[in-house]
Amino acid sequence: MTPRLGSAQDTGPDVTTPAGGGGEGRQRPREEARPVALAELMSTVPLGMAIIDPELRFVEVSEAMAAMNGVPREAHLGRPMEEVLGAAPSGRDVIRRVRRVLETGEPLEGVEIIHREQGGGVERSRVYRASYHPVRRDGQVVAACIYVEDMTERRRVEAQRDAGAARERAVREQALRETQEAVRARDEFLSVAAHELRTPLTSLRLHLQLLQRQVNTSQPALAEELVPRAQVLERQLSRLGNLVNTLLDVSRLAAGKLSLEPREMDLALLVRQMAEAFSEEFHRAGSELSLHVDGPLMGTWDPLRVEQVLVNLLSNAAKYGAGRPVEVSLVGDGRTAVLAVKDHGIGISEDGMARLFGKFERAVSERHYGGLGLGLYITRQIVEAMGGSITVRSAQGQGSTFILRLPTQPQTARLAQASR
Ligand code: ADP
Repeated sequence: MTPRLGSAQDTGPDVTTPAGGGGEGRQRPREEARPVALAELMSTVPLGMAIIDPELRFVEVSEAMAAMNGVPREAHLGRPMEEVLGAAPSGRDVIRRVRRVLETGEPLEGVEIIHREQGGGVERSRVYRASYHPVRRDGQVVAACIYVEDMTERRRVEAQRDAGAARERAVREQALRETQEAVRARDEFLSVAAHELRTPLTSLRLHLQLLQRQVNTSQPALAEELVPRAQVLERQLSRLGNLVNTLLDVSRLAAGKLSLEPREMDLALLVRQMAEAFSEEFHRAGSELSLHVDGPLMGTWDPLRVEQVLVNLLSNAAKYGAGRPVEVSLVGDGRTAVLAVKDHGIGISEDGMARLFGKFERAVSERHYGGLGLGLYITRQIVEAMGGSITVRSAQGQGSTFILRLPTQPQTARLAQASR
């Protein structure tokens, strides 16, 4: 005999089926202690549930499942699945899976079913997730139970969230592309502008020199009178030249084209020469410059680039030194040269220190101190390209000390020596 589900003996006192009539003639338990009947559960549980007997008939079905099938609950009970579900492909799939569970006794978990509905000329689809479990009695499979969850709303929310995330990602990517493009356009502009500015600058310098020579020979008295003006012109031209060179360096750095031409040189000598060249600027700023530099300090560096670094550090010390003394010291241990430029000026805030060596970064307002905010950026790039480092110790109003460490030999040469 095929085991049947739903008889009074089978289900026991706590679960009854509508067709089985279990419980008649039996003493009813007290009302408040009466266990929940299967039929009661099925008519209230908000989950799609069905129990199918081995002949593929509906033994029980929840109201929620009946609603999903579009057939009243009562019209399911005791009827073959094929009749209730009709010939729709999704119905056939469900029957096939139930048959498999009944035959193999193996559950099938989380099977997704997409159900297309026509209504008002619009096709809507609903997504269900079904699990099929065998129901056993004494080790024998006596029924299959189907649990179905309506996933439509959850999937719609997930799809909306995914679409939102994709939109956000697209907006972020677009913003990044636009920023990169703006940076590229700026670097290209800098490069073109710097090259274009060099030509008239060179011509201006040449004409100034010619003018000075002509006045010197034809009207020496006037030449004498014009000396201060000529000096101002030279100074301004040289400032302009430095600004243009700075712009050129930035565009070279952006293009990765900053090149070094290292050769054997005496850093102590260069530091003394630069201090001499800056004496007038320190004098104008009201700062006294003291130098602590001993003997020659030999190393392999690009002299023009080291000079550029010194120009930046010394001109900053004069500019931000608040007219107080500035000390420059240089020491070396044969492997590394350490240069310190110490001022007692306006100092740098903590926030400023974090940004100092960045491109176009300034720690003070340009209304009070002119400058492009590029000097320390270029300095750091040059120093690091030489295998060295630059650090700063400072506090607002307490002055600043910039410390430069440069290996005396280029990194690769040192490695080659070490492996010898
Ligand atoms: P610039 O001087 O052209 O603005 P720099 O890159 O040389 O650009 O310097 C960046 C910023 O660092 C300056 O704007 C200034 O705020 C700060 N700074 C540099 N050197 C000093 C210093 N010696 N004392 C105080 N602040 C300094």
